[in-house]
Amino acid sequence: MATLIDTLNNDTRAKANDGARHPEKAHRPDKPIARKPAWIRVKAPGSPVYTETRRIVRENNLVTVCEEAGCPNIGECWTKKHATMMIMGDTCTRACAFCNVKTGLPAPLDADEPENVANAVAKLGLRHVVITSVDRDDLADGGARHFVEVIEAIRRRSPGTTIEILTPDFLRKDGALEMVVAARPDVFNHNLETVPRLYLNIRPGARYFHSLRLLQRVKEIDPTIFTKSGIMAGLGETREEVLQVMDDMRSANIDFLTVGQYLQPTRKHAAVDRFVTPDEFKSYETIARTKGFLLVSSSPLTRSSYHADEDFARLSAARNAAQPRT
Ligand code: SF4
Repeated sequence: MATLIDTLNNDTRAKANDGARHPEKAHRPDKPIARKPAWIRVKAPGSPVYTETRRIVRENNLVTVCEEAGCPNIGECWTKKHATMMIMGDTCTRACAFCNVKTGLPAPLDADEPENVANAVAKLGLRHVVITSVDRDDLADGGARHFVEVIEAIRRRSPGTTIEILTPDFLRKDGALEMVVAARPDVFNHNLETVPRLYLNIRPGARYFHSLRLLQRVKEIDPTIFTKSGIMAGLGETREEVLQVMDDMRSANIDFLTVGQYLQPTRKHAAVDRFVTPDEFKSYETIARTKGFLLVSSSPLTRSSYHADEDFARLSAARNAAQPRT
């Protein structure tokens, strides 16, 4: 029997999250959390494999974006042992209006984390792992060296596992991007998150063209690395703006596009402008494919790391199919 939950409409949880995790948002007026439509319902977490995944995460002293972001897919993903590790702590130096990750002054880096991540990846038996991080503007290299150490530790321990990284923008951190690309992750993901017009409200610490250029630069340095980026729908963007972002992404040679519904984490976060229908998501996917992306995932519950394992296999197959035969 499938149990359905509606986690983000849980006002009690939202209230508990408001002040402690997001002090910089505490003074903002409350924005009521809209009731989610019928197409956004997920299975409750709690299977034996889910519990096992959580045990492995805890034993290795790791933080996951699945939990910190309050991801609605956690029941499904953790039942397949697909946990996405969030390295460099649980506290982010940015304060994006859409994000539920705690903000503030982060703790120093944990030197044991690369080995702990590698241990968890081996214990979970992952064929493909997604590693993301908080923003660490406080570090001279933005955390680039730590990303490299995590990649290298996973490679030593699980050489057959493919590695996808979802990085911050390394804004004003000279040489950071190049350092991470040199470690040769299989997929380099960095999300544009929204259309440029909404950056000031939604992603005020970031710059749209810097993020786009970062992804373009990855391809220029190493064309064998797959590049991936995503946006959230339902923040107030227009259809034309989304199509323009797709064109911008293709100009930067991005291979894989993800589009998912924005869900408001607490009353202090940006409100949902509207719930985009499944048909509209399908339409985005159709259009994006015609624009030349190797792979597109566009649905209400799409997240950067949702189905990343299966999608990596599809991405590789798509590239092989697109290559001219000799
Ligand atoms: S979609 Fe990604 S963040 Fe969400 S539960 Fe799955 S692996 Fe974690």
